[in-house]
Amino acid sequence: MVVKRTRPTPKLNRACMLCGVVQSMSQFRNDGCPNCESVLHFADNDDLIRECTSPTFEGLVAFKGTKTSWVARWLRIENFVPGVYAVRVAGKLPEDVKNDLYSQGVEYRPRDGSVRD
Ligand SMILES: [Zn+2]
Repeated sequence: MVVKRTRPTPKLNRACMLCGVVQSMSQFRNDGCPNCESVLHFADNDDLIRECTSPTFEGLVAFKGTKTSWVARWLRIENFVPGVYAVRVAGKLPEDVKNDLYSQGVEYRPRDGSVRD
């Protein structure tokens, strides 16, 4: 798989801070996040979308759902739906959202490059 470093297109203009998927604002609004909707509930919640997705991200990767992909392992997206993912997403989830995730047993790893293995 080739990692393309491209500028985000206007249609794909926000990246989920939890899973890194890149979608348009209207996709998040209409369908929520394809991976995180069960814990974050983005649909029809513009405020939450603005807090938990970021317009600043880099390193777009097209993930086709191959669980053995090194890119998937690198991005920790083995179990995510196929789509376009950002390698880095600027920003962090708000504290109350993080606490909510922890209470649901979801581990949040910031994708802004501040966490190293
Ligand atoms: Zn997500």
